[in-house]
Amino acid sequence: MSYDSESPTPARRRLRGNLVIVTAALVPTALAGWLVWQAMGGSGGQDDKPPKVLPLPSAPAVRPSGNGNAQPPTVTVTATPKPSASASTQSARPSGPLAGRVVVIDPGHNPSNFKHATEINRQVDIGTNKKECDTTGTDTEGGYTEAAFTLDVSHRLRALLEKQGATVTYTQDNDRPFGPCVDERAAIGNRAKADAVVSVHADGAAEGQHGFHVILPALVNAGKANTAPIVAPSRELGVRIAGKFVHATGMPPSNYVGDGTGLDVRKDLGGLNLSTVPKVFIECGNMRDSGDAALLRSADWRQKAAQGIADGIGSFLQK
Ligand SMILES: [Zn+2]
Repeated sequence: MSYDSESPTPARRRLRGNLVIVTAALVPTALAGWLVWQAMGGSGGQDDKPPKVLPLPSAPAVRPSGNGNAQPPTVTVTATPKPSASASTQSARPSGPLAGRVVVIDPGHNPSNFKHATEINRQVDIGTNKKECDTTGTDTEGGYTEAAFTLDVSHRLRALLEKQGATVTYTQDNDRPFGPCVDERAAIGNRAKADAVVSVHADGAAEGQHGFHVILPALVNAGKANTAPIVAPSRELGVRIAGKFVHATGMPPSNYVGDGTGLDVRKDLGGLNLSTVPKVFIECGNMRDSGDAALLRSADWRQKAAQGIADGIGSFLQK
């Protein structure tokens, strides 16, 4: 996501202050369990089971909606008909462990959003309220943009998933002037009847705040949004991605969101509120932290990030 001002607001800090009390005892257990899970391979046969850890008190962790500039990584989507997809259906059926499964990858933001301020600032209905169509995303101190990062990781992710036989669709591939808007990003996954949707982002928090986190949909039933059917499967998807992401990248869970679990729950993201299929966001790291930025700029690291996400999706789809 990435909003240049993604740092927690005072309100949020207060909210999470209570959370700390609730989860203080849980966190060490969660992390210990996670490490054990990782040590066991995190990807071997055992990994069919999500780490039993990472319990995130869903209610308290919900980020308040009017969170300043913290805009939801609005995701939009443009179904990009993949040439290879049609080709493969005509010639040979895809084979592999993910054959027949549909994955929608939602690369956060759009490299050209900044040229279309009026369009991306248009308000769209996300069920609970109205929100900007899309946002520009953040960037590193050196100017490496989140939009470029999300596309790069998404390309690598698609290659890994297709190799396993999955049918992969993007919401955007820098093939449109801006967006799509967050409501459309959700609609693309819904129309595809996706088995899993992952929105790829990097955060824009403060220097010193580092690590990754996966954002899960909160229980929302308002207007066009009803996440009741997807809360549980999305959590499972997110937990598996978080575990595999740690394993593949060595990146620790965020030290500023999720109380060490690497998981957050939000009700202010249109891309999640309007989804009718299992969906999560991943903030791969903090672009505004020099340590994380060095990793995010590395092509080798981005390959590991894509591998971790692909492994998590694969684990979820083969459970
Ligand atoms: Zn973002």
